[in-house]
Amino acid sequence: MLQVQDISFSYTNKQILKNISFNLAVGDYLSIIGESGSGKSTLLKLLYGEYNLDDGSIFWKDKKILGPEYNLVIGYDFIKYVAQEFDLMPFISVEENIGKFLSNFFPKEKKERITELLEVVELTNFAKTKVKLLSGGQKQRVALARAIAKQPEIILLDEPFSHIDNFKKQSLRRRLFKYLKEKNIACIVATHDKEDVLGYADTMLVLDNTKVLAIDTPEILYKNPKTPLVASFFGEYNIIRGEIIYAHQLQLTEKSNLKVIVKQSYFKGNYCLIEAEFESKTIFFFHLKELQKGQTLFLEKIK
Ligand code: ADP
Ligand code: MG
Repeated sequence: MLQVQDISFSYTNKQILKNISFNLAVGDYLSIIGESGSGKSTLLKLLYGEYNLDDGSIFWKDKKILGPEYNLVIGYDFIKYVAQEFDLMPFISVEENIGKFLSNFFPKEKKERITELLEVVELTNFAKTKVKLLSGGQKQRVALARAIAKQPEIILLDEPFSHIDNFKKQSLRRRLFKYLKEKNIACIVATHDKEDVLGYADTMLVLDNTKVLAIDTPEILYKNPKTPLVASFFGEYNIIRGEIIYAHQLQLTEKSNLKVIVKQSYFKGNYCLIEAEFESKTIFFFHLKELQKGQTLFLEKIK
């Protein structure tokens, strides 16, 4: 188990993280979310031992994670970290990069392992290609494969799909998270994207203003967001008479005390996002088709 106990950190005199605590079980997946600059990357670096803590402690099982002040070589065998800016060896091939840290004493096993990893990150056809010839997204996939190559016990990923196009993202996510679960590799992912969280993460931690604003299962936080920051992570929402209501929770009705004037319809594929005016504020709801501008309509909350 990973145990993060009351850690605090600042680069200079400005506090970045303050009294952060959480646990993560072996093989579980925790996602860290928060606005840009909230300290997600910093937290991952601390978990890896890249900086010294100002306060608190981090343990993986009974091993204490130490910063550079106490550890000659940064990092540990059982933990892998893929930074936002991944560094690869550009002049050797994809398969050589992935196999770089695998033992040469078992050539057959090494080859099988590389084949398996190439499949996980969907780069089988690029095995022989030099890394410098790859796109940003392809490089990111090589970095992921290299990180899981030696089967760490825990892996830290900083916005792992940020350079990968939408065509590839969905299937890559499914493969990666399935693979990590199968191999019982614990994983912590810093992300902006709810798609990295819903359906995959066991726990979701929200960082805000140096603190843990919320930590719970994605389902509980989704259904009961409590604060606008959490709601905004999941989608369009409104605050109606003090209550947070997602756009998809509203529907048209004959008559209600929620009288709106339609301002704009945005085509979203299988639904439209409707922008409307309610008590001189903007309100959003979903509807199956476009609505005529200027119409007065009534909304109700879907039960
Ligand atoms: P996030 O990943 O959530 O966007 P970061 O952890 O990268 O946030 O940054 C948190 C804060 O720490 C930001 O205000 C950022 O400017 C600052 N910061 C990040 N890295 C450094 C550094 N090496 N030295 C000083 N300040 C830093
Ligand atoms: Mg970051």
